[in-house]
Amino acid sequence: MATVKKSKNVSVTTYENYMNGRWVKPKSGDYLENRNPADTREVVGRFPASSAEDVNVAVKAAKEAFPKWKATPAPKRAEMLYRLGQILLEQKEAHATAMTREMGKVLKETRGDVQEAIDMTFYTAGEGRRLHGYTTPSELPDKMAMCVRQPIGVCGLITPWNFPMAIPSWKMLPALVCGNTLVIKPAEDTPLSTYNLVAAMEAAGLPAGVVNIVAGVGKDAGAALTTHKDIRLVSFTGSTATGRTVATNAAQHDKICSLEMGGKNVIMVMEDADLDLAAEGAVWGAFGTSGQRCTAASRIVVHKKVYKKFVEKITARARALRIGNGLDPKVEMGPVINQAAVDKILSYIKVGKKEDGAKLHLGGSQLTKGELKHGFFIEPTIFTDVAPQMRIAQEEIFGPVLSIIPCNNFDEAVAIGNGVKYGLSASIYTADVNRAFKAMEAMNTGIFYVNSSTIGAEVHLPFGGTKGTGNGHREGAMISSLDIFSEWKAIYVDYSGKLQKAQIDN
Ligand code: NAD
Repeated sequence: MATVKKSKNVSVTTYENYMNGRWVKPKSGDYLENRNPADTREVVGRFPASSAEDVNVAVKAAKEAFPKWKATPAPKRAEMLYRLGQILLEQKEAHATAMTREMGKVLKETRGDVQEAIDMTFYTAGEGRRLHGYTTPSELPDKMAMCVRQPIGVCGLITPWNFPMAIPSWKMLPALVCGNTLVIKPAEDTPLSTYNLVAAMEAAGLPAGVVNIVAGVGKDAGAALTTHKDIRLVSFTGSTATGRTVATNAAQHDKICSLEMGGKNVIMVMEDADLDLAAEGAVWGAFGTSGQRCTAASRIVVHKKVYKKFVEKITARARALRIGNGLDPKVEMGPVINQAAVDKILSYIKVGKKEDGAKLHLGGSQLTKGELKHGFFIEPTIFTDVAPQMRIAQEEIFGPVLSIIPCNNFDEAVAIGNGVKYGLSASIYTADVNRAFKAMEAMNTGIFYVNSSTIGAEVHLPFGGTKGTGNGHREGAMISSLDIFSEWKAIYVDYSGKLQKAQIDN
């Protein structure tokens, strides 16, 4: 799979693209360096900077492999996925460590990321013996009507860096069990974890051409996937801005297109909430993965009656967070992903400081002392007295920056919570069951939690959001993700022996 090169006495692995069952060099011969965001002196690996030409080769392989994979009985396809699950379980610790090195989140979280891919694998494999269709009565006698799922063809998958094994698994596994073949382009910053998943698929015996990976930058390899004539479906997860470009390209080529995009998620803390529980959930939601989750809690709306107390509690917890290299088991918050992320997050902190009324209550700076100077570390940052319309309360910052917004009552909390262009996740902390149910109904999001943070999705429930977060699809849960990765075929069987005309012979 890889060749080893020497660089300044340290061996760095060079990874290749995987196409038609072989690991091959990119046509250009160019590679991108993948560095550890906790210590940029460490090169995690070199990965192909692929072009549209490489994508063409991968798509050709996937297209040629499609008829045979489609004809393989779904329970047989699933057997390979069960093997994959077993392999991933055995390799879990190594993959988690590699992921922490390439993207910085702490080991506990990267173990969770790999576990999510394992859960997805076993869960999806079970679908090999279901993939249910249905029968329904015909309006005419001696006629049978039924619906079956059919594979779509070659799928082009584009993924972000923050869940570099879990998110690819959400797309690849349902695509495969449905009988599709695929080409995946992982994020520039985290190709290794997706490579590890693909290598495990190779080890599980998936036939040549069924799974192909092409690494590279979005505007080259990614864009080529969205316009290739032989790709029938594009499934994208990433920012809303990129998603719009992907959708525009896909529309020009009549592709099925599923989009999972940004978020600006809210926790609502009511006056009757368990404030310790709420503060614990808020810190986990805001600063877990250094705030770089699509479901991160970047806004907390707090009832004025408990505002001061809640701010005290969350501040104490955030201040105590241990920051550093995620491989250290004592560390609770790692770096952000790269220099561009540092620049973006610091620029939002500047914006927040200038907002009239908002107060920078905690943090606000890059951490550059000692070992931290080698990585991209930003302090857990809290703004208080934020107004709902301020930019820091409206735009996705994707870093450890939290806006706390005071409110007067439940209705106001809901209005503020819903008052953003995204609709991914929300939560409420309250002891009032009626209010909890009202909130479940009122919040216009794809995911909602009661007395828990905005993060923590499980693979067998639908994952995705409303408004600017997506275009109506849901990954995860089998029915919704099968609806992305298969197409319905309606079948009519007339056994009357005569011509019967629907809508006319009645
Ligand atoms: P991004 O949009 O910058 O990149 C996502 C992917 O798109 C990468 O693989 C990138 O190379 C590729 N890409 C970039 N330009 C492209 C183009 N023109 N054509 C095709 N592909 C292109 O996002 P990111 O920074 O990797 O990830 C962070 C974003 O992802 C955040 O907005 C976050 O909320 C979102 N996200 C959403 C979910 C969800 O399920 N809703 C999950 C995780 C992350």
